[in-house]
Amino acid sequence: MSVKSPNSWEARAEANSFYGFTDLPSVHERGTVVLTHGKGPYIFDTNGKSYLDGNSGLWNMVAGFDHPGLIATAQAQYAKFPGYHSFFGRMSDQTVMLSEKLVEVSPFARGKVFYTNSGSEANDTMVKMLWFLGRHEGHPERRKIITRVNAYHGVTAVSASMTGKPYNSVFGLPLPGFIHVGCPHYWRFGQAGETEAQFTARLARELEETIIKEGPDTIAGFFAEPVMGAGGVIPPSKGYFQAVHKVLKKYGIPLISDEVICGFGRTGNTWGCQTYDFMPDAIISSKNLTAGFFPMGAVILGPELTDRLQAASEAIEEFPHGFTASGHPVGCAIALKAIDVVMNEGLAENVHKLTPLFEGGLKRLAENPNIGEWRGKGLMGALEAVKDKATKTPFDGSLSVSERIANACTDHGLICRPLGQAIVLCPPFIMTEAHMDEMFDKLEKALKKVFKEVA
Ligand SMILES: *Cc1c(COP(=O)(O)O)cnc(C)c1O
Repeated sequence: MSVKSPNSWEARAEANSFYGFTDLPSVHERGTVVLTHGKGPYIFDTNGKSYLDGNSGLWNMVAGFDHPGLIATAQAQYAKFPGYHSFFGRMSDQTVMLSEKLVEVSPFARGKVFYTNSGSEANDTMVKMLWFLGRHEGHPERRKIITRVNAYHGVTAVSASMTGKPYNSVFGLPLPGFIHVGCPHYWRFGQAGETEAQFTARLARELEETIIKEGPDTIAGFFAEPVMGAGGVIPPSKGYFQAVHKVLKKYGIPLISDEVICGFGRTGNTWGCQTYDFMPDAIISSKNLTAGFFPMGAVILGPELTDRLQAASEAIEEFPHGFTASGHPVGCAIALKAIDVVMNEGLAENVHKLTPLFEGGLKRLAENPNIGEWRGKGLMGALEAVKDKATKTPFDGSLSVSERIANACTDHGLICRPLGQAIVLCPPFIMTEAHMDEMFDKLEKALKKVFKEVA
């Protein structure tokens, strides 16, 4: 569809940029969408075409693409103190204030915060903290990390090992000692005749059997997203976190909530662990933390891990870890503003207001005979394409049904994301009812077109 003259943006993009997480044949055929700017929930390409971004960028641009308050905050902080580190007993005033704020809005009575540049690095950092603790406390064998099939925790060697997706095998990952237990997706993995409660109990049993088989004293931690994001928006089965937390507590294994997507309002509460009513030992935050205006991640430690890590660090005089830009003053100033914008300027309320409309739209489109289920929580949702609704049989993978739906949406001026055979929506919190209608109308057109082609 794109005419790729050598000087076109499309050709120049492909000539010099090495793409990640991108289907190359599809890019060669359709061309790269090169973007110039954004306005509210819309983005604009070099041809002047606009797209409603139903995915908030990559789950993170919750305040849209031109939020004046966030831009002004960034500009002011750049003018005042454009960069500094957090090593050697120095840190910016913005960093101090953000840590206070994060502990205040966390579910923890008290805690401490450590900064990174991304969600992957925050998970990586948490794993190093747990390894460090094990060694300091006389359990150097306590190194294994348990996560779930379909989990997404990032792309560094450690966080990719935690990620439960088959594509990491091209790197020879996971590393040894990274264990994946079952995915709590009842619709897909529930067995014939199994109730949801029985399914949840089976997963908890599987976790306990895994812990016993591996040796309880070899497990450093269990990481989970409250709602799996890049696995295809998978809310847990009923009672899942209560059941697995009971098992983890029995063996003294920390539960780490990876809130990189769920944090700051996405599921309808500040944290996903509040939506699902469990108290983790630590929280991993990124993406929404800065509303996507700065690359930043954070490990937020609950009281017990705070005390244990503080003691371990005092004993050797330092925690030998940190990134050059950890606690960057501009990132921290933006995060402070982003938290304020989401929690106090009506965005969190808007999530509540829009959720019934969002669920209504998903439910309506799920009436399509080729949609097997709709699922979601708050403003994250998915529609699962199936060849046969009754048997839940997926389409032949070679048909690339979800990619075709996403491409048809792009043609109509809507960005949504294919994940497996699902179409994922994760709209910005600033959407209006009219934006919601536009999103579902465009998606409906795309679904009709593609299902007609593949029927
Ligand atoms: C995106 C994501 C990460 C990784 O964050 P990056 O900033 O891309 O490194 C980790 N965990 C979850 C749940 C994510 O969605």
